[in-house]
Amino acid sequence: ALQAGIVGLPNVGKSTLFNAVSNSAKAQASNYRFCTIEPNIGLVDVPDFRLLKLEELVKPNRVVPTTIEFVDIAGLVKGASRGEGLGNKFLANIREVDAIVHVIRCFEDDNILRDEGDINPVSDKEIIDTELQLKDLDSVERKMARTEKMAKTGGDPKAKREFEVLKLCKEHLEQGKNIRELGLSKEDSTAIADLFLLSAKPVLYVANVDEASIHTGNRFSQALQESVKAEGAQVIVMNNTIEAQISEMEDPADKELFLSEYGLTEPGLNRLIRSAYELLELITYFTAGVQEVRAWTIHKGWKAPQAASVIHTDFEKGFIKAEVIAYEDFVKYGSEAACRDNGRLRIEGKEYVVADGDVMHFRFNV
Ligand code: GDP
Repeated sequence: ALQAGIVGLPNVGKSTLFNAVSNSAKAQASNYRFCTIEPNIGLVDVPDFRLLKLEELVKPNRVVPTTIEFVDIAGLVKGASRGEGLGNKFLANIREVDAIVHVIRCFEDDNILRDEGDINPVSDKEIIDTELQLKDLDSVERKMARTEKMAKTGGDPKAKREFEVLKLCKEHLEQGKNIRELGLSKEDSTAIADLFLLSAKPVLYVANVDEASIHTGNRFSQALQESVKAEGAQVIVMNNTIEAQISEMEDPADKELFLSEYGLTEPGLNRLIRSAYELLELITYFTAGVQEVRAWTIHKGWKAPQAASVIHTDFEKGFIKAEVIAYEDFVKYGSEAACRDNGRLRIEGKEYVVADGDVMHFRFNV
């Protein structure tokens, strides 16, 4: 599964959020599968109302949602890029993840210390950004040192261009900017792909606000929103303490009541999970048989054979064709048979680009 790493300064509510994630993971695991995972990794279902709808219509023996992993990357502090507070270890953990969930403290509480004084979400964000940028600068400069000779003396235009891209990255980082905002072309990105730069990873922010502000946000979360407007990043306003409490409730009726007391229709965690999924540019297709209705994760833009490979690698090699029903059609007509009768079941070949929500049935050679 794809991984999102939870990062942030100390005492901003990361562990509280991760508790909510891992409680949900445990609750879900007991339902239909068992999963052993490291203590700092939580595997959670991606909430999808379409799956419930398909369950209603198909009445399968079981329903399997798709999942995403959250990794708790505690311990980042100011100076991490210089190795402070085991900084290098934590930065290395970030290198492994596909996306970053950056938790920012947007609540006041005199009992919970903030090293840098008054609550300041924008400055908190910049402290972490700076650490990631410094680490990236280090990676970029090392690669420049390794490749400089070849770029300058050799006649290889590719090596020359790569060196140019590295220089561009270096200048950008030195201005205190993130690589994800550099707008490198796909081709130029290959020059730095092997570095897995931290500030190039997609990011979303969790504004951890006080209870009273979960619907409206507060001046802190608004300041944060304003500061990330230019990078087009999403800010999820939620209260991690409430989320942890919700996740501890085992009785669905209790949970429902608790949510309604806060005027919530679903846990904020669901919003976070869905946003992380979108951030990773993932989409879902479904298989809908009487044995099992299931959601499958693929990347946007994948063609049918590649999409089939997430079910089984043999499906890609032996791919013949796919029967496809759009989710809306499936719901409108109520069954595969009814879709077929109404000409809503399409036969698609190797070049078909799978759409979000497609209900798929693959034909393949073994
Ligand atoms: P971490 O260091 O970022 O992992 O932060 P923790 O999750 O351990 O939280 C630090 C402290 O802040 C704990 O005492 C939490 O109970 C508290 N805390 C977390 N979220 C909130 C919140 O939304 N409001 C308030 N008042 N306290 C919170």
